[in-house]
Order: sequence, then C-alpha cells, then structure tokens
Amino acid sequence: MSVKIPATPIPCQNFVSGKFLKGSGLAMDVVSPYNGQIIGNLHASTAKDIDLAIKDAHETQKSWADVPLKERTKIMFNFRQILMRDLDEIAHLKSSESGKTFAEGKAGLMKGIEVLEFALSLQNMDLGGKMEVSRGVSCEFRREPLGVIANITPFNFPAMVPMWTIPIALTLGNAYIWKPSEKTPLTSMKIAAALQEAGLPDGLFQVLHGGKDTVEAIIDHPQVKAVGFVGSTKVAQHVYQRGTALGKRVLALGGAKNHIVLLPDANPDLTGAGISDSFTGCAGQRCMAAAVVLAVGDVDHHIQKIIQRAQSLVLGKDMGAIISKSQVQFLKDAITRAEKEGAKILLDGRNTPAPAGLDHGHWIGPTIMDNVAPNSEAATLEYFGPVLSIIRCRDITHAMQIENSNPYGNACSVFTSSGSLAEKVIRQASTGMVGVNVGVPVPREPFSFGGANASKFGHGDITGAQSLDFWSNSKKVTMKWEKQDDSNWMS
Ligand code: NAD
Repeated sequence: MSVKIPATPIPCQNFVSGKFLKGSGLAMDVVSPYNGQIIGNLHASTAKDIDLAIKDAHETQKSWADVPLKERTKIMFNFRQILMRDLDEIAHLKSSESGKTFAEGKAGLMKGIEVLEFALSLQNMDLGGKMEVSRGVSCEFRREPLGVIANITPFNFPAMVPMWTIPIALTLGNAYIWKPSEKTPLTSMKIAAALQEAGLPDGLFQVLHGGKDTVEAIIDHPQVKAVGFVGSTKVAQHVYQRGTALGKRVLALGGAKNHIVLLPDANPDLTGAGISDSFTGCAGQRCMAAAVVLAVGDVDHHIQKIIQRAQSLVLGKDMGAIISKSQVQFLKDAITRAEKEGAKILLDGRNTPAPAGLDHGHWIGPTIMDNVAPNSEAATLEYFGPVLSIIRCRDITHAMQIENSNPYGNACSVFTSSGSLAEKVIRQASTGMVGVNVGVPVPREPFSFGGANASKFGHGDITGAQSLDFWSNSKKVTMKWEKQDDSNWMS
C-alpha cells in the first residue's frame, strides 16, 4: 500500500494538561522525505511552556502514584485497543514524516505495542516480595514510581522508540514528559490523543516540541527525576553528562555501526535475504541495521544473493526515503569518497531514479561496497542509510578483532551453520545484542533492548525486564509488629 501523505500542513502542537497548545517559541517545518513538501509545522517550547507542563505533571503524578497498579493497567489496556483500531492511520502519518514504507510504519507501531503488552503483564509479575527474616520480623521489597520522568526520541521511529518507554513508565506510576524529534513530531499527537481517550488523567503525559534548547531545559528542570534518550552518540553523551552532573538517572542510547560475520557454511536461503533486508530496511535508518559485512573465506555466492535481493527492491514500494536532502547528499559523497579510497562498488544506488511523481523527495538506492579497508571511513563512520561495506577477513579471529575494535556496541550477527562458530561470535562480540542467522537481532519482549559501549550511556536496558529498575525506585521495608521473647539483632 502506498503511503498517504498529508495534502496540507498539519499544525503540530504540544500536549499539555490534556490540551493541544501551540508552543511559544520558534516555528519549524516538518518535511516529508517522500516528496520534499512541508506536511506540518510546529512551534518550539519555551522555558515557560516547559516549566508549566512539568509542574502540572509533578502535581498530577502524586495521585497517579496512589492508583493501584491493576487500575493503571486497565487504562493501558484501553490504550492498546485504540492503537490497534487506529493502526493504519498512525502508520500512514508516521511513514509520511519519516520516509518509511507503509509496512514498516505498521511494523514499528506493532513492535511498540509489544512493549505495551509487556507493560500490561506487569500486574501479573512479581514486582515486590516479602519474607520473614527472623522470628516476627519481615522484610519487604516494594517498587515505587520515580515521579516525573522525561524521554527524548530520534526521528527514525516516531512511534516505536517512544513506545519503548511510555507504557512501562506510566504503568509503573510515573508522569511522562516526551520531547519527540522535531523532524517527525506529527505522530506524537495521535499517541497523546489515544492516551487521553484511553482514560489517562490529564497532566500525566505531556508532549513538548522543540530542539536542543527544549531538551536541555527539560533535563535541567528540578522536578524531572530521570531522563531516557535515544539518538546519535554525540547527543546521547551530552544528555548523559548533563543529566548525571545534576544527579539524575539517565539512560542514553546512541548510534551504531553493526557488523555481520559471514561464514562460507551459512544457509544460503537465510543469508541473502537476512543481510539484504537488514541494511535496506527503513532505508538503512535504524540503529540495528547491518552496516559492515565481515566476509570470512569464500563467501562470494552469498554476496551475489545479497546483491540480487537488494537490486530487486523498488524505491517507494519496498524501500522508503531518506530523512533529508542533506543526508542523501552526505551518503552520496561518502560513497564517492570510499570509491576513491579503493572500495569496489558492487551495487550503486547514487543515481537510482526517484519513484514516479516523487522527484522532490529524498531518495537513494541500496549500495554495496567491497574491499573496504578496516580502518577507513566506510568501515567506521555511522552512515545511517542503505549502504553496506564489505571487509574481507583472513579468518574468524581477524573478523572479531575488527568487530571488537569498533567503538559502538548495538548489534553483531553471524551467519553460519556451525553451532560452535556461532557460540564463538556470541561470546566475543562487543555488543549488547547478538544475532545468529538473524540480520536485525532486536530482542522480542520481555527480553530487553539495549546496546553497549558508545551505543549506550548508563546502566540497564530501555525495555523489558531490565528496564524496570530504571523507571522505578525500590523501597525496602523491615517490619515487626509484636515483641518476641528471643533476642535477635533487630530487637
Ligand atoms: P539526534 O541525536 O540528532 O536527535 C535525537 C534527539 O535529540 C532529537 O529529539 C533532537 O531534537 C535532540 N537533539 C539533537 N541535537 C541535540 C543537542 N545538541 N542537544 C540536545 N538534544 C539534541 O538523532 P536523530 O538524527 O534524530 O536519529 C538518528 C540517530 O539515532 C542515529 O545515530 C541512530 O543510530 C540513533 N538511534 C539509536 C537507537 C538505539 O536504540 N541505540 C535507536 C534509534 C536511533
């Protein structure tokens, strides 16, 4: 299905205390990567807008904390029903602002709903515990909300990345401040409206638009207790340092350059599609996309299959657009630089024509470059586009040395039929997530999402069981109700 692009610009507004309100700051346009047209506009939030929103969230959260978990969960269940009802409409909107295909837009939202389903299951999980520790004395562990928490999200998943945190943080009893990417802010209005319709009390979910200044004012606000961030490594590090310097809890996920170890014995049916779909899916604009193939031994038969699959993709139908014109230019220049440095272009997307009628959009075709040198820009710089670099390796040890020397740590996959070689890669990979014959090794819930090294600053993961400690406080209670005859150290 082709993406329905808004015909006239949508006014994108903050969502504060249950109302859609225009920010008081600078105006910004939202451009569709599909046709280069302005499809929305917003006004950034000023310090005053931010202060009002956070103060109201702070007040409202106090009563939300007293709502039993099962009652909070009922609202989240309604939220799921509404998102499922509006799935296509939201997928069209998020795809038109981010450049995804309709199928990718829908899949991203479904992945977000999977995290929501995990949040629904919290009511049935052991969120606390109690035991008698000595005669007449019990110790109890309780999970309590933090208060007001904030999340800052990137352009590439306008619904999925925010949905990593919205359901879990709200279900645990927090108030939520969201600063969406200014490049893809429109989807936030659908999510805010769905939460309101679901019955979430006004003031608990506030959306504040803007760029760097808005982010910094949110982090600095004294009533914000914890900050989640997903975006590029440079900004993730900045957000982490700024928040932790103020004594706040911060989990900041950054960029990536993901490696695939390709071995000759790999299953041909899984390999061509697995690797091609990994680097071309979402037009390469995802932090789990394959960026570098570490080709061990004679794997040319696999590489041919990757090329065949990638060159069969139809732009605008099977593969979407790139977020901005400047990013398309960056990708084309990077490919040209790599070629000059000695890379062999096996598939060249630089001149792939735009889909009919979308000439003003931001398009580039899949590109595969062979004989890339391990320390070159093509091997090390995050491109964030449908460009795959192949590095020829002497053996698996050489391949893992290259993987280990890269600063990022989101994903590493291996394609092989050998269990023991797969195990070697699992053990030696420097990443938070590893795949075996899987091109995009995003764990399904309740297994958590989170990288390592320069792909993640802070402790824990952003979803799943590993995220609960981040979005809550633990309280330990020791109780004695009656005097006991025998003495013990607590008497
Ligand atoms: P970005 O870092 O430019 O922006 C992310 C957010 O930070 C946006 O909301 C933006 O407004 C804000 N921001 C930008 N500059 C800022 C600054 N100087 N100070 C404070 N805030 C600032 O990232 P992007 O271009 O929107 O997204 C692409 C990047 O995100 C890629 O590097 C990709 O790998 C990464 N990403 C990582 C993950 C992950 O899970 N690790 C997931 C998705 C995307």
